[in-house]
Amino acid sequence: MYDIIEKKRDKKELSKEEIIFFIRGICEKSIPDYQTSALLMSIYLNGLNERETADLTFAMSNSGDVVDLSDIKGIKVDKHSTGGVGDKTTLIVGPIVAALGVSVAKMSGRGLGHTGGTIDKLESIPGFHTSLSQEEFKRFVNEIKISIVGQTGNLAPADKILYALRDVTATVNNISLIASSIMSKKIASGADCIVLDVKTGSGAFMKSPEDSIELAKAMVKIAKSVGKKAMGVVTDMDVPLGIAIGNSLEVMEAIRTLKGEGPKDLENVSFALAGKMVELGLNVKEEQAKDLVREAVSSGRAINKFKEMIKRQGGDDSVVGDFSKFGKSKICYDLASDVNGYICEMITDELGKAAVVLGSGRETKESSIDFTAGIEILKKTGDKVKKGEVIARLYTSEKGKLLIASEIIKNSIFFSDTIPEKKPLILGFVSSDGQYGSNDSKTFFEKF
Ligand code: URA
Repeated sequence: MYDIIEKKRDKKELSKEEIIFFIRGICEKSIPDYQTSALLMSIYLNGLNERETADLTFAMSNSGDVVDLSDIKGIKVDKHSTGGVGDKTTLIVGPIVAALGVSVAKMSGRGLGHTGGTIDKLESIPGFHTSLSQEEFKRFVNEIKISIVGQTGNLAPADKILYALRDVTATVNNISLIASSIMSKKIASGADCIVLDVKTGSGAFMKSPEDSIELAKAMVKIAKSVGKKAMGVVTDMDVPLGIAIGNSLEVMEAIRTLKGEGPKDLENVSFALAGKMVELGLNVKEEQAKDLVREAVSSGRAINKFKEMIKRQGGDDSVVGDFSKFGKSKICYDLASDVNGYICEMITDELGKAAVVLGSGRETKESSIDFTAGIEILKKTGDKVKKGEVIARLYTSEKGKLLIASEIIKNSIFFSDTIPEKKPLILGFVSSDGQYGSNDSKTFFEKF
């Protein structure tokens, strides 16, 4: 291990064998944390090339369970988002593409910090089970084309070890380390094709478009190197996606969107991601994929697929037509603006934190979630607001939390006298061979 650290310190390339030795050593605990941390810092400072990044990813994805989806017929398509605020796209794209015959065997996570998690959202549906046996999971996908479950405990354990050390050694923010961390779990999850939604902006992990594009390209190239097909979509997270932040609020918004009645920004991003999944899953051109996605929603097939999935996983599918089944938070409070003006900026991760304060997320790993808690963001960047007008609706069960959350929200929204410049919602996409195309050409996405 000393030699490996020395090599990377001196900007030399690590061999595949050295990378495997390192990953095996951290899993067997034969390499102490101080040596792992030294290597992580050397990687952070001196980088990994494409081949080293792919080898690291593959070694990590093989460090634990590798899900075998070969019992499921056809091409299996997965989707991953780097995480954002109000990002409920999985709940929308899953049923759309499954309704079109693409198999979606999806393992999702719980909320982390200011970002929500698909599993918490689904569990806000009364009765919905997210821990199924592997057999049930695969059977459901074969029968109805979709199942969404929680991640197995032993998926890429090397990543868990490395992530915990990166977190305390200031080495999280390195594109090779992030890309290999995300892709090790995706590859171990067993799908053939992956659509990556890389968020950019104040509510995202990657704050700048340049870094987000680099991350998307790095992940697509990793997929290619292990014989999987991936595409990246770089999308804005400078404002929350849609209106709702919080578990049952987000499921209700996803249902509205599946019925064709959702907010336009959420619909646009979801349709773009679903389009890419359909392209990969059905091997069709983007124009045809786009038409199929629209048709799945307008015909009602997508919302019916969502109902079918809820029912199959033990949930009460009548929520789709009756939102009162989600229950109601004790307190609903309208937060009004103190000023006149245009909203020019939102600190989106802070809005996510305000929702957590209201009860929608976990402050510690042990905290329980209030599924009905959250925020509806009624005014967003670019909107003109009058003093006294409601900018956000807060839902919680504890009155004491309103004041703290309201303060966070007010401090996260900035006003100006002039209309701010409009930013694109979908910045561009990365093709399966790793080429980035900006959305300026307005081909595929514009028409959504
Ligand atoms: N998400 C991950 O899974 N890993 C990272 O390194 C960063 C975000």
